[in-house]
Amino acid sequence: MERTLLIIKPGAVQRGLIGQIITRLENRGLKLVAMKMAQLDKDILKVHYAHLVEKPFYPTLEASMMAAPVILTAWEGVQAVSVVREMAGATEGKKAVPGTLRGDFCMSHQENVVHTSDSLETAEKELARFFKPEDFFDYPSPLLYYLYSTDEL
Ligand code: UDP
Ligand code: MG
Repeated sequence: MERTLLIIKPGAVQRGLIGQIITRLENRGLKLVAMKMAQLDKDILKVHYAHLVEKPFYPTLEASMMAAPVILTAWEGVQAVSVVREMAGATEGKKAVPGTLRGDFCMSHQENVVHTSDSLETAEKELARFFKPEDFFDYPSPLLYYLYSTDEL
């Protein structure tokens, strides 16, 4: 099983999309294993978006990510990293395919409703950045054998 990070961005919190976004992942069969609301600050964003700090759009990205609280969520599933990443859709919301979160809920390359980890290695680092070990819950999944075949588990 993999674990991945999905952040519901401030704009989506303001727009009242939290429930719809979480419902999509629950419906897919992903398991929520950690969740909290947090106000991000400049220091954590500089680390989280280290690959973008020099970009001309970084100041507006930073302001956007601090404009309201975010919802930090961790999801577990077989190949959860790529499944959640594909559910998010393209970074540029105007080009995101309908059916994806961005393709259904946004029109922007910046105000694009969610952040998702882009690889297993990134997911491990990002989860450790935003959650403490005790924030994760390991609880029974009685429907597991209806979600996957035994050879997938
Ligand atoms: N971003 C932006 N302008 C761009 C590219 C990215 O404002 O031209 C923002 C956007 O909010 C994006 C975030 O920076 O989600 C992180 O960029 P990344 O390339 O990592 O895209 P993601 O992994 O979120 O799809
Ligand atoms: Mg990214």
